[in-house]
Amino acid sequence: MNREDFNEGLLGFLDASPTPFHATRNMAMMFENAGFVKLNEVENWELEAGKKYYVTRNDSSVIAFTYPKNDLKYLMIGTHTDSPNLKLKPNAVIKEHGVVKFGVEPYGGLLLNPWFDRDLSLAGRVSYLDAENRVQNALIDVQKPLAIVPSLAIHLDDKANKDRTINKQTDMCPILSTNEDFELDDFLRWQLDKVGVRDVKEIYANELSFYDTQKAAFVGLRDDFIASARLDNLLSCYTAMLSICSVSEEKPMLFIASDHEEVGSDSTSGAGGSFLESTLKRIFPNFEEYIQMVRSSLMISADNAHAIHPNYPAKHDANHAPYINKGVVIKVNANQRYASNSQTIAKFMQNAKNLELPLQEFVTRSDMGCGSTIGPITATRIGVDTIDVGLPTYAMHSIRELAGSDDAHMLYKILTGFQL
Ligand code: ZN
Repeated sequence: MNREDFNEGLLGFLDASPTPFHATRNMAMMFENAGFVKLNEVENWELEAGKKYYVTRNDSSVIAFTYPKNDLKYLMIGTHTDSPNLKLKPNAVIKEHGVVKFGVEPYGGLLLNPWFDRDLSLAGRVSYLDAENRVQNALIDVQKPLAIVPSLAIHLDDKANKDRTINKQTDMCPILSTNEDFELDDFLRWQLDKVGVRDVKEIYANELSFYDTQKAAFVGLRDDFIASARLDNLLSCYTAMLSICSVSEEKPMLFIASDHEEVGSDSTSGAGGSFLESTLKRIFPNFEEYIQMVRSSLMISADNAHAIHPNYPAKHDANHAPYINKGVVIKVNANQRYASNSQTIAKFMQNAKNLELPLQEFVTRSDMGCGSTIGPITATRIGVDTIDVGLPTYAMHSIRELAGSDDAHMLYKILTGFQL
């Protein structure tokens, strides 16, 4: 797939995936179209050699794999489906000072400032009781601008440009109406009706997140950049998903996109949970074979990297400061915040060199703390040799992040051409 088609598809995927639930559903649809067979965790699996499969957990994480059967050397790629956002609280509606607003809880380490004065919409999963008293789930996406967090005018805070701090409890509530008749239950029933869910007896719970309605876009003189919400880490999800869809079913490959990375990965659908291990053990039920497979495979953990910011260059180590559009970044940390080691790095470099693709390296300044990602968690849990890589970006965890329009396609070429 050429770079232009790749990037057009990327923009569509970003816009269609406002939450991990939607990202997972969209990836599942892509896998269906590419001939992957759906598996269910609560049914028996009878895998056939030469076929390819996918399975989801909690509607928010997904694993896809090829099954050549006798080849134990798997190329695995790990990413995450979640991004920082404002999540609706269970009893969200607040009516005061002439407006209806929502109580929200920040999810993950979001940059709060960029959430002000944005046209926000709401999406996620609603769990309800149907006419036959069964608990069901449905995904909703309001799609239109529904709410906004207005800034406080500078006249009311003359220190706003110097030292304004943000209180997560009181300052971040999106307002949605001046009509105090609003009832959340009615609103959610209307949204469910829009997606064809009509037998709703009672709505019990929801996991709904606000998102920016501004669409993903090319920005720059020659479309140098891609600006969008959730580039961390839907950029890697999309790239890895297309890669496994592009390779032959004879090539042993597995892709996992986990939820809850932004809050530490500890959950049933997070990389700290059992999803990958359970799935691998069902693919390789013989313990001897399972261990051989794990120890001969390689996990490429793909999560975005910090490009050196032209306005804040001092925040980077000058020798490990990746540029936008100059290639995939290998992430290294002596204290194992990244799982890369010299052996896995060498394997990755060998592949990039064979494909004539550039690489860059990132190490956090020694006087700053280092972020982490799913790489070390998966390496620890499963015992698979791992490398942490990522695409260079600015504004990570902002409501609108920025990546290069060349880099993701370069990662795609490495992943599809990778030889273990
Ligand atoms: Zn990330």
